[in-house]
Amino acid sequence: MAATEDSAFDEYRDRVERPLGRLFREYGASEWPYFAAGMVANVVARVASLLPPVVLGAAIDSVFTGNAPFDLPLVPAAWFPTEEVAVFELSVVLIAGSFLVTAVFTYAYGVTANLFAHRVMHDVRTDSFAKMQGLDMTFFDDKQTGEVMSVLNNDASNLEVFLDDALQNSARLVVMVAGITAILVAENWQLAVVTLSAIPLMVALTSWFMKRAEPRYERQRAAVGNLNTKLENSLAGVELVKTNAAEAHETDRVTDASYRFFRDTMDVLRLSYVYRPGMELLAGLSFAVTFAVGGYWLLYGPPLFLSGSLSPGAFVTFIFLTQRFVTPLAEVSNIVDQYENARASSARVFGLMDVPSAVTEAEEAVELTDVEGRVEYDDVTFSYDAEETVIDDVSFDADPGDTVALVGPTGAGKSTLCKLLLRLYDVDEGAVRVDGHDVRDLTLASLREHVGYVSQDTFLFDGTIAENIAYGQFDADREAVVEATKAADAHEFVVDLPEGYDTEVGERGVKLSGGQRQRIDIARAILKDPEILVFDEATSDVDTETERRIQASLDDLSADRTALVIAHRLSTVRDADAILVVEDGEITERGTHDDLLDRGGRYADLWNVQTTTLDE
Ligand code: ATP
Repeated sequence: MAATEDSAFDEYRDRVERPLGRLFREYGASEWPYFAAGMVANVVARVASLLPPVVLGAAIDSVFTGNAPFDLPLVPAAWFPTEEVAVFELSVVLIAGSFLVTAVFTYAYGVTANLFAHRVMHDVRTDSFAKMQGLDMTFFDDKQTGEVMSVLNNDASNLEVFLDDALQNSARLVVMVAGITAILVAENWQLAVVTLSAIPLMVALTSWFMKRAEPRYERQRAAVGNLNTKLENSLAGVELVKTNAAEAHETDRVTDASYRFFRDTMDVLRLSYVYRPGMELLAGLSFAVTFAVGGYWLLYGPPLFLSGSLSPGAFVTFIFLTQRFVTPLAEVSNIVDQYENARASSARVFGLMDVPSAVTEAEEAVELTDVEGRVEYDDVTFSYDAEETVIDDVSFDADPGDTVALVGPTGAGKSTLCKLLLRLYDVDEGAVRVDGHDVRDLTLASLREHVGYVSQDTFLFDGTIAENIAYGQFDADREAVVEATKAADAHEFVVDLPEGYDTEVGERGVKLSGGQRQRIDIARAILKDPEILVFDEATSDVDTETERRIQASLDDLSADRTALVIAHRLSTVRDADAILVVEDGEITERGTHDDLLDRGGRYADLWNVQTTTLDE
């Protein structure tokens, strides 16, 4: 599956106004001291780096050719000594000092600018993660995990690069171009015009490059996205790949995607092969012209339409500074690219942050306390999307301690009904109540604290068995964990594992069987000890022994609490207080096992099918 272009948060992304401005307002503002310190240090370092050629020029004029008194722009001449030796020594100190200042401030700027960028991004990343976690399940149903990951990873790194490199490189660009221009004009404005005539050409070349590069960069970004999606899908579906002997097919797909990325990258690079040397060539031409015009001027007086005098020192300053335009100007295309990326990325980040949760706490939400465990579904209607009604006007009650079983064909809406109790989704019409409170009036945490959920697709975190059992009850001690595991009839297999409770379960618990995973899930529910339990029986076939064990732990688990049990094997719920047959989002039959058998309807049919199959 390719990552879809119009994802659910595109809508919010498009609504984000001035995303970079928002980034600075909401996250940059509190870190401004680092930003300001970084900028100041950067400017000082760059200005200091321009000084040596100027000092050198002044020293040549006053010490070596003896033409003029030592003089630097913006500094009163009276401050300088007049003696040749003293001027020479001062020049040495100034040149060495400038290099030292450049080094020290470059260090300071590196530290502060990095701190600024990474502190901001740390806040952005943690905030967007926290915000995303609070979203309702509809968001996660629609979203490819890869897409959310890419916002939290790639977009965050784009912003980091922008906040760190692009901002500081722009400052450097401005300081260098403005500083060099000012110095050259102050030294000799006529020669400066000759030298600086290369700048419009460099700007033209840069804009040509950017125009041609932009679509290529876009293609390259799309290619890398495509490659990542392919890699992610192949890894996630490795079992499917292997069981279908499709390794070669997957390798081909990845090879195609990788080749496209290679080709598009080369496309971008080919252009920059022209751009960078082009910039150097223009700078070289400017240098050569400056050298020719300046040299001629020194030897024979002002050439062509130029007039006045040029000192040898000023000539040297020109020669040195002409070289310094290239690097900052060559960064322009990078800066623009990083800026564009960052704007798109911050729109994506804020787009994610702006997605409203469909399941939110009421302002006056109350805590669910002293729970008895009464559950009521009152004329509940629900659909995942506006198109198809999944739950249609369902009503039923469960008294405290009752076990209510939900049975029926696959896709009938049983899991959906249970998810409404946990408020993973909100009902469209009607109400679900716990102890008389509409679940929408309760705080989410207190509701979920009192409702345990053993799902059909058990999920284990990468960690140890004990950590997985104590998930949610993070303070539980080992004794409590072991006790819960024994009650879930899982202790035996856990202690048989190489490291017992400290065995790492592997990513998503792949090192355990489906039945084992579900028993870990049951142990977790027992440890949580909720007053209400939702148990979604695993659909996958389990052997009779495992079934008996799951049944026994389920009996224990539901003994003193209200339980909603989704059963695929009817034998597990024959003792339930009430059995509801759910078909197509509606309850079509209800009663005890015996009632329903007597009635000879749908349940009786299902029962007969299952028992006959078992008998065979
Ligand atoms: P099973 O016995 O196979 O677990 P079920 O009775 O529990 O099935 P549900 O999982 O509740 O059925 O699904 C009911 C209907 O809702 C199905 O048509 C299913 O395709 C649809 N559905 C389930 N989850 C979602 C979802 N997250 N988004 C959209 N539709 C969904």
